[in-house]
Amino acid sequence: MNINENVRSIKEKIAAAALAAGRSPEDIQLVAASKTRSPEEIRTAVAAGVEIFGENRVQELREKLAQNAYAGAQIHFIGHLQKNKVRQVVGACSLIQSGDSDELLRLIDRRASELQLVQNVLLEVNIGGEASKSGFAPKDLPRALETAAGLSHLRVRGLMCVPPICSDPQELRAYFVQMRQLFVDISTKKYDNIFMDFLSMGMSGDFETAIAEGSNMVRIGSAIFGPRQYPQKAD
Ligand SMILES: *Cc1c(COP(=O)(O)O)cnc(C)c1O
Repeated sequence: MNINENVRSIKEKIAAAALAAGRSPEDIQLVAASKTRSPEEIRTAVAAGVEIFGENRVQELREKLAQNAYAGAQIHFIGHLQKNKVRQVVGACSLIQSGDSDELLRLIDRRASELQLVQNVLLEVNIGGEASKSGFAPKDLPRALETAAGLSHLRVRGLMCVPPICSDPQELRAYFVQMRQLFVDISTKKYDNIFMDFLSMGMSGDFETAIAEGSNMVRIGSAIFGPRQYPQKAD
């Protein structure tokens, strides 16, 4: 796998999808999903122009941080964050994309307050209503937003989703459309302390569709780094 070549090609495809959707290529943020990837691979991606990496597991994040793997780039947390690991992530990541319960939001706020910083988060939406996935049900978003609005060391910056695996492309597209509608609805309601800056959706197999339907942040792993070589272990 030629990471350099892949980054160039992905950036071109992102730009083309943005233009086709009547938007500017610079409005779309590329997050390289770097779970299971070595510090060397991450450094190669930084040199190729990747500015943000997304990690799923706290242990792996801490190990790679200790090896200075991300120098020159930002880190997002994109996996389910266990409550007892909040301390290790707040402040280390510029954005926690996986805010998935009121309790987690409160714990992030408390830790950010101890560190005297404001932690940016996205609310993860379980858009397919899958029992196996975390995230807020769409109907619970208003309550989550009320919770977040009252937390002064946490700032909601948008929404994120990992839709169900769909064999039908139109079904997948419909999930992206629903996310876009939630994003727009919340934007127009103007909650205190809630900023709908980012709609994070789209991965290696579907980022062009996601951008067409309003995504401005895509999380791409295998199309940059190649197929993952070993299975994901639990954190
Ligand atoms: C691994 C991962 C991705 C990227 O998946 P690819 O299919 O390899 O592009 C995106 N988002 C999350 C939350 C992930 O865990």
